[in-house]
Amino acid sequence: MSTAPTATTAENANLTDGFHVLVQSLLKNHLDRMYGVIGIPVTDVARIAQAKGIRYIGLRHESDAGNAAAAEGFITGKPGVYLTVSAPGFMNGLIPLKEATENGWPVIMLSGSSSRELIDLGEGDYEGLDQLNYAKPFAKAAYRVDKVEDIPLVVARAIRAACSGRPGGVYIDLPGDTLGQTVAQDVAESLLYEVNDPAPAQLPAPSVIESAMELLASAKKPLIYIGKGAAYAQCDDEVRQFVESTGAPYLAMSMAKGVLPDDHPQNAASDRGMTMREADVVVLLGARLNWMLNFGKGKHWNENVKFIQVDIDPTEIDNSRYIAAPVVGDLKSTVELFNDYLAAHPYKADPAWLEAIQADSAKNNARFSGAETADTVPMNHYNALGAIKKVTDANHDVYIANEGANALDDCRDIIDMYLPRHRLDCGTWGVMGVGLPYAIGAAATTGRPVISIHGDSAFGFDGMEVETICRYNLPVTVVVLNNGGIYRGDFKNLGTDGDPSPLTLSACAHYEKLMEAFGGTGYYATTPAEVEKYVAEGVASGKPTMVCCELSIHAGKESGHITYLNPQPVTGLLVGNEQEDLAEHRENGKLVD
Ligand code: ADP
Ligand code: MG
Repeated sequence: MSTAPTATTAENANLTDGFHVLVQSLLKNHLDRMYGVIGIPVTDVARIAQAKGIRYIGLRHESDAGNAAAAEGFITGKPGVYLTVSAPGFMNGLIPLKEATENGWPVIMLSGSSSRELIDLGEGDYEGLDQLNYAKPFAKAAYRVDKVEDIPLVVARAIRAACSGRPGGVYIDLPGDTLGQTVAQDVAESLLYEVNDPAPAQLPAPSVIESAMELLASAKKPLIYIGKGAAYAQCDDEVRQFVESTGAPYLAMSMAKGVLPDDHPQNAASDRGMTMREADVVVLLGARLNWMLNFGKGKHWNENVKFIQVDIDPTEIDNSRYIAAPVVGDLKSTVELFNDYLAAHPYKADPAWLEAIQADSAKNNARFSGAETADTVPMNHYNALGAIKKVTDANHDVYIANEGANALDDCRDIIDMYLPRHRLDCGTWGVMGVGLPYAIGAAATTGRPVISIHGDSAFGFDGMEVETICRYNLPVTVVVLNNGGIYRGDFKNLGTDGDPSPLTLSACAHYEKLMEAFGGTGYYATTPAEVEKYVAEGVASGKPTMVCCELSIHAGKESGHITYLNPQPVTGLLVGNEQEDLAEHRENGKLVD
C-alpha cells in the first residue's frame, strides 16, 4: 500500500510525488474535472486534485462516477476522468468503462490498486486483485504505471487511446506504491507534456468520395441516417449543409437528435417505418448497423437498399451485411469532402419523395398528438411527457438525460431536441442506471439546466445520486414517471405465494421526498398541468428539484418498443390462467384505469 504523502520538509522541498505528478499531468492536458468515489489508496488523489484546481465531483457509486465522466466525454470530445478505489470499487467502475467503449465515448478510469508483489504472489492484500488483467476485456486500452516518472506518459497515452479512432474507455492502474514514489520536481516538470492533436483528421481518398457520391446520385429515394458518432464528431454545420443541399429526408438516432433541430422539414422521424422500407440508398453518418437499426436487413429495410457507410473504424464496415460504398474517415472531414464534391456535381433528391414523407408525417402527427395533450388522469407516459415537452420547447438549451423502457422510448419520440449533444440516454447497450449520472455529468460540464427523465424502475439504479445533485447544488430537475413497476404496475403474480409480481414496484410512491431529504425541492404531480408547472419551476430555479409523476399502473408496454426481443415460453407448458395472464401482460398498456 502507499505511504501517505509527507509534509514538505527541508530535505524533500525539491521533491514531488505520484499524487502531484498525476494531477499535474491531467491539468497539463486541460482535464480539469474528476468524478469519483474515494478510499484507500486514492483519497489524496482527489484531495490534491481539488487543491490544484480540478473540480472534483464525488458520487455515491463508482458506476455513476464513470457514467458522469462518459457524459462529459460525449458532450465535449475530451475524455471524462473518474477515480475509483481498489478491487470492489474498481469492479463497479468497469461497467461504465465498457458502456463508454460500446457507445464510442472517451473516458479515462483511474483506479488505485495494490502493490505488484503482493498481487503477483497472491499474498491476499486488502482489496487485492490483478486489476489490469480484469480491466482489459472491458476497455479500449488498459495500462499500469509502475514508476512515478511514467505518469505523464501514461496520461498522454490514455488520452490518445480514448480519443483517437473510435473513442472508448481507457483504464489506468495506479498502484499505491507508484502514487507514493517521489521524484525531483524539476525532473517531473520536464516530463509533463500536452498531447498534440489527440484525434487527428482522417481523410478518405478522393476516389472513395467519388464512388460514394456517384452511388448517392443514382438514388431515387435517398435517406441520410445521422448517428451519435456524427453528434460526437461536432460536425453539425457540415451535416446540415449535406442534408439541405441534397434535399434528402434524414433520420436521427436517439442521441443524434438535435444535430439538426427536430422540427427541420427534412426530418422523417414521424414516418420512420415507411422511409426505411422504401429508401434505396442510405447514407450512414456515424450510425452502426447493429440491433438498433435491425442490422440493416430484414423487413424493416428495402430489400435492394444500398448503404454508403461513413465510419472512422474500418472494421465496422460489413459488420452485419454487404456495404456498397465503405467510406472510412472522420466525419467532419468526410462530410466536408462530400459537400465539396456536391458543390461541383450537384445532386438533388426528387422532391416528390420528401413530399410523400411529409404528407405521411402530417397524418401520423395528427393521429398521435391527441395523446400528448389529453388531460387524462391518472396520467400515462404520453400526456406526462407532452407536458414536459411544453417546457423543453420553450427552453431549447436544456439537456435531457433519459432512462427507462416506456419512459425512454416515448420521451425520445415526444420531446424534440433543437441543439446537438443535448440528449443522453441508455445508449448502445440499452442500460439502466445512467440517467442521474449523465445528468450530473452534463450539469457539471455545461452549467446548463438538465431535465433527467426516468421510469420508476430505472430510477432505482441511480436514485441515491439525488444526494450528489443536492450536495453540489446542480441545476437538475429529476422527473420520475411512476407507473408502479418494471414496464408497468398491473402485472399479476402467476403463483400462489401472494408476493408482488417480479415486475411490480411501488405505485403512487413519493419519490420526491428523496430530494427533500437532501434539501432540494420536491413536487408530486397527478395532472399534466401540474407536471408542466413544476418542471418549468424546477428548470427556472436552476436548483435541485424533483417532480414525481403519478401515472396509471396500466400505462406502458412490456419492454417499451422492444417487446419483440423477449423470448416466448413454449405454448402448452403454461398451465391454468398463466397463458391468458401472460398474453394480457404483453398486450399494449391500457391508457385508463
Ligand atoms: P447510434 O447508436 O446513434 O446509431 P452508433 O454508436 O451505433 O450510433 O455509431 C456511431 C459510430 O460512429 C461508431 O461506429 C463510431 O466508430 C463512429 N464514429 C465515432 N466518432 C467518429 C468520427 N469522428 N468520425 C467518424 N465516425 C465516428
Ligand atoms: Mg447505433
